[in-house]
Amino acid sequence: MKLETIAVHGGYSPEPTTKAVAVPIYQTTSYAFDSTQHGADLFDLKVEGNIYTRIMNPTTAVLEQRVAEMEGGIAALGLSSGMAAINYAIQTIAESGDNIISTSSLYGGTYNLFAHTFPQMGIEVRFIDAPNYEEITKLVDDKTKAVFCESIGNPAGNVADLGKISELAHSKGIPVIVDNTVPTPYLCRPFEHGCDIVVHSLTKYMGGHGSNIGGVLVDSGNFPWAEHKSRFNRLNEPDPSYHGVVYTEALGPAAYIGRARVVPLRNTGSAISPMNSFMILQGIETLAVRMDRHCENALEVANYLTKHNKVDWVRYAGLSNHQDNQLLKKYCDDKAAGILSFGIKGGVKAGTKFIDALELITRLVNIGDAKSLACHPATTTHRQLSPEELAKAGVSDDLVRLSVGIEHIDDLLSDIEQALAKA
Ligand SMILES: *Cc1c(COP(=O)(O)O)cnc(C)c1O
Repeated sequence: MKLETIAVHGGYSPEPTTKAVAVPIYQTTSYAFDSTQHGADLFDLKVEGNIYTRIMNPTTAVLEQRVAEMEGGIAALGLSSGMAAINYAIQTIAESGDNIISTSSLYGGTYNLFAHTFPQMGIEVRFIDAPNYEEITKLVDDKTKAVFCESIGNPAGNVADLGKISELAHSKGIPVIVDNTVPTPYLCRPFEHGCDIVVHSLTKYMGGHGSNIGGVLVDSGNFPWAEHKSRFNRLNEPDPSYHGVVYTEALGPAAYIGRARVVPLRNTGSAISPMNSFMILQGIETLAVRMDRHCENALEVANYLTKHNKVDWVRYAGLSNHQDNQLLKKYCDDKAAGILSFGIKGGVKAGTKFIDALELITRLVNIGDAKSLACHPATTTHRQLSPEELAKAGVSDDLVRLSVGIEHIDDLLSDIEQALAKA
């Protein structure tokens, strides 16, 4: 079935006991065993079934199955946040002494995890700048476990060359992990371009209403972990924390996502609550129609700003003059979601005045909400950075970031117009 249909029906049909049509919220910590033997078989992964909600839950299982189908993967793991998904995506295969390679244009939280927290835990992150993807093959050594990128970067809005990154990483036997939060599987499906693992912050467009934090890790099932026995030793050798199971033997192509569940999730516990899984499923049902409106509105706002005499520049990959517009056509159906940035004549002062004058568009730091949102990174998220660091992060002091929502375009443009007049 097509994505629009999977988003509404995937992973669930009315369950036999109550025939509930909406996905039930299984608000329970635990599940009864039929017998001690049944309990033992569940723990041995010999039979399928539920044990404890930190590790699995039937409401979350619908979310996992639905997102896996939307991405074209074999399985997924629902988690408490996008950051938890990114953390586990790496921790499933890397540990102290290992390294990963990442593009440097990243979500701020991911940048902090990679530049500070992982190094403190002994995992080195080697950054490359797009479009110098050839660097990947030079930076790989026998301790490299993954290449990481964002399909569309937040906040920069740049588009990654997923096909090229996959080709270069695979030539060295390394999997590619993609943060697909901004385009969502509605606009971009990284597995179709050779990528191996996808992570999402479900907090953004997937949930879509600014009401729930959640994340998910999705496995394509395509990476040949068993062919790289020494590099991916944790998947290929007996695991003492799970009574000697060898994941590639027990789970075949699902070795990675299986270990993500029974090692990082089971042992460090970033579980999503069943209520949040339910709320995010509600959001996913309308993803396709919302994304169409987000893209349509953002393009209109970008075109409006381009022509405005108080605006110096506009950055939106959906504009034909953007450096990544060809990549957007190739990977995202020429649609760039709702995030754009622009510069106001008059720098920080004018930027601040503009944001303060907004009446409909909300001042905050989030993206992907049905509501339109604005932020001025130089005075908020990036205010600690020096002018040199700001330049490196692609954040000039006149930069205003908009996450364009699904309101009527006339109301959005009139709010922007009156705020520009006051700036
Ligand atoms: C928000 C975001 C994250 C982090 O997700 P949380 O759900 O806030 O933990 C990761 N990547 C991108 C691209 C994001 O926009």
